[in-house]
Amino acid sequence: MYPGLSHGAYEALHAHGSEAQKALYLPKLTSGQWTGTMCLTEPHCGTDLGLLRSKAEPQADGTYRITGQKIFISAGEHDLAENIVHLVLARLPDAPAGSKGISLFVVPKFIPNADGSLGARNGIYCAALEHKMGIHGNATAQIVMEGAVGTMVGEPNKGLAAMFVMMNAARLGVGMQSLGLTEVAYQNAVAYAKERIQMRALSGPKNPDKPADTIIVHPDVRKMLLTARAYAEGARAFAMWTTLQLDKELASDDEDERKECADLVALVTPIVKAFLTDNAWIATSHCLQVFGGHGYIREWGMEQFVRDSRINMIYEGTNTIQSLDLLGRKVLGDNGKKLKKFGKLVQEFVEDEGTNEAMQEFVNPLAELGDKVTKLTTELGMKAMGNADEVGAAAVDYLRVCGHLVFAYFWARMAKVALAKKDSGDPFYTAKLATARFYYAKLLPETAGLIRSCRAGLAPLMEMEEALF
Ligand SMILES: Cc1cc2nc3c(=O)[nH]c(=O)nc-3n(C[C@H](O)[C@H](O)[C@H](O)COP(=O)(O)OP(=O)(O)OC[C@H]3O[C@@H](n4cnc5c(N)ncnc54)[C@H](O)[C@@H]3O)c2cc1C
Repeated sequence: MYPGLSHGAYEALHAHGSEAQKALYLPKLTSGQWTGTMCLTEPHCGTDLGLLRSKAEPQADGTYRITGQKIFISAGEHDLAENIVHLVLARLPDAPAGSKGISLFVVPKFIPNADGSLGARNGIYCAALEHKMGIHGNATAQIVMEGAVGTMVGEPNKGLAAMFVMMNAARLGVGMQSLGLTEVAYQNAVAYAKERIQMRALSGPKNPDKPADTIIVHPDVRKMLLTARAYAEGARAFAMWTTLQLDKELASDDEDERKECADLVALVTPIVKAFLTDNAWIATSHCLQVFGGHGYIREWGMEQFVRDSRINMIYEGTNTIQSLDLLGRKVLGDNGKKLKKFGKLVQEFVEDEGTNEAMQEFVNPLAELGDKVTKLTTELGMKAMGNADEVGAAAVDYLRVCGHLVFAYFWARMAKVALAKKDSGDPFYTAKLATARFYYAKLLPETAGLIRSCRAGLAPLMEMEEALF
């Protein structure tokens, strides 16, 4: 998390900072001599940043004096680096109310001299560290600012947009955190399942020379392991593809390609954040379950993966907020244009593989789900025109359906490669094909229930009066 946040702070300063800010901060954030933070949340405002109260008073020398309180600041205080570069959201005295009145400031723990050496201790302090369910490897700090000196990043009242550079990077980073947890939980659970002996297979002994069979013979243990494996490998393929689009967005010589890739990255960012983190919560919990009671006690380390994965569904915008971003802004907000771009990739693949007999078990359900997503999106768009709350009622289920569409696409692509290499005898491809089949047979069908739940709409959620809760 420490280098992750530094990376995000780097990106925000790189995109919106002045030349002087870049020269002062970027080299040391890059080398790791200094680390970064993002200071958005305050006690009374998390999701709704329009409510934030921290104040920034302009000074005669062009700097600002910042006063206020922040909570839950990851990497907010530590002695791992000589300086901490806080990126802080605050309001100018004449700022309009709400999110249109937020500016971004860089507020260092020690104010650097022009040559980059450390100067005076700044008035930004850690008031306490939060006691958390997990991620104990990272210090989450309450921060008070008492006239701390800062300089503005970007333009007045445009701070939220500048901060979004960091938030988008962090959202992808949180998805990767969850992929890592899914993978490490899986590896531990597989090793355990191959050693632990308990009961006999229902169909008769599989390890007759032992007093019981290894638990990996039991179908449900395999289901838990394969769920984690399918989520990890699907996530890895999806993440590699996303980062490739990100590289092309940043570095392609072709402007159209840059725009195309930017649209795709914007569309899938909430899916990377929410789908991968929800899956990690499921997968780490399954992997703990493989250990039985030994998973629940600390000694084996499995409960840590579950605890660590839980935060990923909350910070960087809760997964509900990611879902609203996907359905409300990214899909309905542009009349489905970005979604169609991903749909085109699916359609092209389906058309290319349409006559490949061996691929039918993947291509047919993929095509079917693509059609269902198109119909569902139109339906939700119509309903939302009648009542915007319909978006809130469907968004979380909708994101999960889209997550499966994306995974089904990448699993089909992986299956295609694995089928082509089937006769190579390489166990990598054999395992890939088996995992693809598992994903299609056991995980993808979840979409049927999710689509029904989307269609059920707002009424079942709103029927009960508030007083009856
Ligand atoms: C360990 C940890 C590290 C963190 N690190 C940082 C950090 O480095 N920097 C930083 O600035 N913040 C950080 N945060 C804060 C984090 O981003 C917020 O906790 C998160 O954005 C949610 O805000 P909140 O806790 O105030 O919840 P609230 O905004 O009060 O939300 C409460 C619940 O209501 C739901 N909700 C709110 N609005 C809506 C809506 N419109 N529609 C539907 N549901 C809604 C939310 O999804 C949530 O379930 C961290 C938090 C933790 C716990």
